[in-house]
Amino acid sequence: MIKTFTGPMHSGKSSSMLREYFKIWNKEHIICFKPKIDDRDLGIIKSKDYKEGINAICINNFEEILPYINESIKNIFIDEVQFIKGNVNILSYLSLIYDINIYVAGLNMTSDLKGFLCMPEILSISDEIEIIKASCYDCGKEASYTYYEGKKDNDIKVGDKNYFPLCANCYRKRIGNEKLKKYFSNLFEIEK
Ligand SMILES: [Zn+2]
Repeated sequence: MIKTFTGPMHSGKSSSMLREYFKIWNKEHIICFKPKIDDRDLGIIKSKDYKEGINAICINNFEEILPYINESIKNIFIDEVQFIKGNVNILSYLSLIYDINIYVAGLNMTSDLKGFLCMPEILSISDEIEIIKASCYDCGKEASYTYYEGKKDNDIKVGDKNYFPLCANCYRKRIGNEKLKKYFSNLFEIEK
């Protein structure tokens, strides 16, 4: 079983995933991972509801999970899964062959509406997907989009500085219609 918690920045994806962690009484059968590239709270999964955090092994690739697997591992938790590289099918393998329950939390979209690195693949292999909404920074409605304030030199930035969640209306207002249309310019090229 693979269950994915996804949504925009500050929606509480990690908190929702950790709720499942705390439901499991015998923690001996759990192993937790997070990406090495994310150097906030190295080796600890934290969230706004669980400030004390839980220990996690830092990895770069899904393949690095395999040496930790043994008969006693029944549950795997991976935070910020969007930053982990390698073959996502390792998760399907562990779920199907080892009958491990896998819970992952990750950002679905970049601030310019592209699938975030491995997330489209993660979503496609998930048994269950929970899309967590945030609260719009501008109007308080449910927010599905992550807005980035400032200049970005590339698509992928680690950390949550200058990112905040917005609803569709406020996202459009902040970006402006003209700039937003540019995000879809490749579609219009196809039409021509
Ligand atoms: Zn709004």
